[in-house]
Amino acid sequence: MAMVTLIRGAKVYQPENAGVKDILVLNGTIAAVGDRLKADFGGCVEIEEINAEGMAAVPGFIDSHEHIMGGGGEGGFHTRTPEANLKDLIMNGITTVVGCIGTDSVGRDMAGLLSKAHALDNEGITTYVYAGAYRVPVKTLTDSLMKDIMMLDKVIGVGEVAISDHRSSQPTFEEFARIAADARVAGMLSGKAGIVNVHLGDSLRYMDLIDRVIHETEIPASQFLPTHVNRNAGLFDAGVELAKEGLTIDFSGNEDIDFWETICDEVRVCKGIRRMLDLGISSDRFTISSDGQGSLPVFNEQGEFQGIGIGKASSLLKEVRECVQKEGIPLEIAIKAITSNVASVLKLGTKGRLKPGFDADICLLTQDTLELKSVMAKGKFVVKDGEQQVFGTFERV
Ligand code: ZN
Repeated sequence: MAMVTLIRGAKVYQPENAGVKDILVLNGTIAAVGDRLKADFGGCVEIEEINAEGMAAVPGFIDSHEHIMGGGGEGGFHTRTPEANLKDLIMNGITTVVGCIGTDSVGRDMAGLLSKAHALDNEGITTYVYAGAYRVPVKTLTDSLMKDIMMLDKVIGVGEVAISDHRSSQPTFEEFARIAADARVAGMLSGKAGIVNVHLGDSLRYMDLIDRVIHETEIPASQFLPTHVNRNAGLFDAGVELAKEGLTIDFSGNEDIDFWETICDEVRVCKGIRRMLDLGISSDRFTISSDGQGSLPVFNEQGEFQGIGIGKASSLLKEVRECVQKEGIPLEIAIKAITSNVASVLKLGTKGRLKPGFDADICLLTQDTLELKSVMAKGKFVVKDGEQQVFGTFERV
């Protein structure tokens, strides 16, 4: 049966502010955005009409870095983090997620990651993955990184390759450049981004390896999406310098920043984005990911494990809200960080925009407080008026 939905009277952020419009959704795709739209199929098709007056309609959120099958383990086996479930994602507006592995590529592998990605896809959202984990050489499902990217639909790049971290495999410049080269060519050959998602640690080497690849080889800055760039002030400074040269940098959202600000010099996302904008850096050059289900281990100066927290999917909207409410950044700019900018850097052609021909992934927020009310994924309301409509297989057992 055809699915037709008319969302009436929302202020539409495409993410550009298009003003108050109606959105017509046909079979999972945005068919039209316009004034007083009419849909008439002679009574043959049921049309769902939603009154969205007073709401802001924004694209569904794209989380470019989430440990969907769990991660962590840095404090021993009992500190492995749990898997994401559908509820964690959709109740926080995430309609597209890119799964990654993390520190432990022995206890977790590509078969497990892809299985989890397919499970979430079956349950109602869109999923992708990166090949590999922290370590180099990259552990793939097929016999090579290029083959994983070219032949496995869900694999859109490689990562999170860890550098400048005591947990990384300490890749050499040549090893790191080769990974970027393979990802780039495999991406070209298969029409994908072939993005290199880079985990950045706390060391003073900051972004040195990325800087060298951009300046010493022919590989452009657009091949990389470094993450956790706001982990400390020095690293963020290095990221800002490369953002000026066209690198898109990814902030990790943090629900508990009030606590973390007191024990380290982590850069609050809204302050970092404000600084980039004030420096005249393009508003296309930043993204925010949740690092959801990832471990947030605390180590002392000797590198000894002190304790562990967990990344939360809710941080995406929370950070956008802080951008608007604390820093006065317009919603149409702030929302790019979790919608169109992510789609562009990951080359997700039909994601991240509320325009005809794009996938019908839509979030409805209250205009005044930016509270998430409803979420449509692939043309279907998975959350409506704050109530979960679609449940993961075991969420109600
Ligand atoms: Zn990481």
